[in-house]
Amino acid sequence: MTLALGCIADDYTGASDLANTLTRCGLRTVQTIGVPADQLALPEVDAVVVSLKSRSIESSLAVSRSRAADKWLRGRGADHVLFKICSTFDSTDAGNIGPVMEALRADSGDAIVLVTPAFPETGRTVYMGNLFVGSVPLNESPLKDHPLNPMHDSNLVRVLARQSKTKIGLVDLATVTRGPDAVRARLGDLAGKGFGAAIVDAVFERDLETIGNVALDHRLSVGASGFGLGLARALVASGRVRAGASDAVSDVPVGGPAACLAGSCSQATLQQIAKAEHVMAVLHLDPEQVVAGRDEARHALAWAKERLKDGPILIASSSTPEEVAALQARHGRDAAGHAIEQAMADIAEGLVQSGVRRLVVAGGETSGAVVDRLGIPGFLVGAEIAAGVPVLRAVGAKNGEMLLALKSGNFGGPEFFSDALELMR
Ligand code: ADP
Repeated sequence: MTLALGCIADDYTGASDLANTLTRCGLRTVQTIGVPADQLALPEVDAVVVSLKSRSIESSLAVSRSRAADKWLRGRGADHVLFKICSTFDSTDAGNIGPVMEALRADSGDAIVLVTPAFPETGRTVYMGNLFVGSVPLNESPLKDHPLNPMHDSNLVRVLARQSKTKIGLVDLATVTRGPDAVRARLGDLAGKGFGAAIVDAVFERDLETIGNVALDHRLSVGASGFGLGLARALVASGRVRAGASDAVSDVPVGGPAACLAGSCSQATLQQIAKAEHVMAVLHLDPEQVVAGRDEARHALAWAKERLKDGPILIASSSTPEEVAALQARHGRDAAGHAIEQAMADIAEGLVQSGVRRLVVAGGETSGAVVDRLGIPGFLVGAEIAAGVPVLRAVGAKNGEMLLALKSGNFGGPEFFSDALELMR
């Protein structure tokens, strides 16, 4: 198998977002959790997104992990690698975008790298090198107060220059609008003057298509999911990938018992649980008992085992904001959250041991704890159940074939649990 596109994402949710975007553009895409083992068996795919957690770690670590991911992807035949960053360019003067970009550029042999976090669909646009979040420049957006990476400068040429050794240039919108050859000429000019990277303006999706087209002449690019969209469309337009390749996720049913777990206490999830009560057996955990020890998870599993043969079940720790606040006041927010996440992971593990092969999880942190516990190395991304929430088929999991849906709390419509199971056959 030869990958048409390799991606290295600097955080997990960004990786999922990119994998989902590539899938929507027709690329068969696998998202891996961390750098995969050399022997990981992959189905026939066009793209792999390696999810790292390197956005806010020490820059030398971010560099070594990204280089390991790059090596793995190149080893699987990826000609082009996208280093996926946040569409709000989350970083500091210490990195990690600049240091990772420079290390990967050195490994790739490219003279110059195209960089743009633009993703018009989500309101991220770049003009004259300045990043806009909706209608305001980055430094006037809520990102100015981000706890880890406060962004005080919207001019990405300056931002990237402060964290890079190479000179950073600009390919402006007027050039992008003139098309791929104009961009190529500008990049050639910049590279000739010793610039190792250029911020590229993009306001509309057609700009991303132009950029994707040019980027395929190179071996490395840096951007957000919008850049992924541009690359994917260029791969399809050039005939290197056959769009709409059959949906390998839902082609072969997995069958077996189905279960849902809810650890999110968001409004949307509370409403989805209430709706699910009409169509499946629902168990509400006692959060106080969960924090007190492991019995609650054991009881929940015994409850589930009796019912799994009769249809899908749902186990929820979720409670109202008042109850959450009271529990946190008694035990501390982190201790309560961690105990409940681990109980959910215990339950997920027990359910899979009992034969569950279709699992829906509500809650971002809850999903992370469950996936870690199940030791799933990666997912083939399928059709969307709701915006941003695809069906996932586990790849290389020790428990064999399995379908999952992992959603952050606020995602999905009121019937989310039934909608998910409808697509997870
Ligand atoms: P979301 O995607 O909605 O943010 P998460 O799973 O990321 O959901 O976060 C929810 C957090 O709340 C988790 O740490 C979870 O363990 C915790 N939690 C779940 N149920 C309760 C509860 N009843 N009381 C307090 N915390 C809870």
